[in-house]
Amino acid sequence: MQFTVLTLFPELFAPFWDHSIIRRAIERGIITASAVNIRDYATGRHKVTDDRPYGGGCGMVMKPEPLAAAIRAAKERCPAAETVLFSPQGRVFDQPLAAALAHGEGLILVCGRYEGIDERIGTLVDAEISIGDYVLTGGEVAAMVVVDAVTRLLPGALGGADSADNDSFAADRLEHAQYTRPPVFEHQPVPEVLLSGDHAAIDRWRRESALIRTLLKRPDLLRHRPLDPEEIRILQRWVTEVKEIVTTENLSGAGPLPGGEPGR
Ligand code: SAM
Repeated sequence: MQFTVLTLFPELFAPFWDHSIIRRAIERGIITASAVNIRDYATGRHKVTDDRPYGGGCGMVMKPEPLAAAIRAAKERCPAAETVLFSPQGRVFDQPLAAALAHGEGLILVCGRYEGIDERIGTLVDAEISIGDYVLTGGEVAAMVVVDAVTRLLPGALGGADSADNDSFAADRLEHAQYTRPPVFEHQPVPEVLLSGDHAAIDRWRRESALIRTLLKRPDLLRHRPLDPEEIRILQRWVTEVKEIVTTENLSGAGPLPGGEPGR
């Protein structure tokens, strides 16, 4: 996979390429990554890349000519690459979109700055992506997010062959809880089963942990994929246990509930 980031601040990417999974993926030849300065494609003595908005208003807008030249040059180097424009107005990036992008041969990632880019650049891009409903100062952080999330999904990029398959969102569930040493931290012990060496029991515990965490933290994910028979059994067991704990006596001893309702 060939990543080409078009930016006015290419120096921001040197440390990003040089660490952790991204660095390893580059060393293994799984990805190539470069940050290209859009200013290199600006003409004139001052290499201007921005101008005032037509119609007035505050801020500056990125001029279309340097951006178009930079995109076309990147396309020539990787004709099969998809061109992505970062914008808070784009489709919100998520794991399914990361997985779809990971099937391509390359990505040209266009980072805006200032008030954004001239609208007419839209004809040169394949997709407009946002990394969330908030406004960043520039697209560089968004480009790092996309490069990182996509690279993790490429075969051989992670240490274990199946590490990405167990990550949160991979199968519309969150990942199970994780623990490491010490076995007791500030009076909180690690669940005993994880110390048992019984791999079948550990697998069962992890499936249960993943499902219950998804239910409590991101119930919306459960609607993306139907529960499988094992998950239905886990939830039935869990509901029974909750019912046993939440008895009338337990609640009446709890005093008024938040909101003023007495426990019944
Ligand atoms: N004036 C624009 C608007 O309100 O839609 C925002 C421009 S923003 C200050 C400058 C650049 O940061 C954008 O062109 C885009 O490339 C990037 N950016 C800002 N927020 C983003 C987000 N949530 N996701 C992806 N890129 C974003």
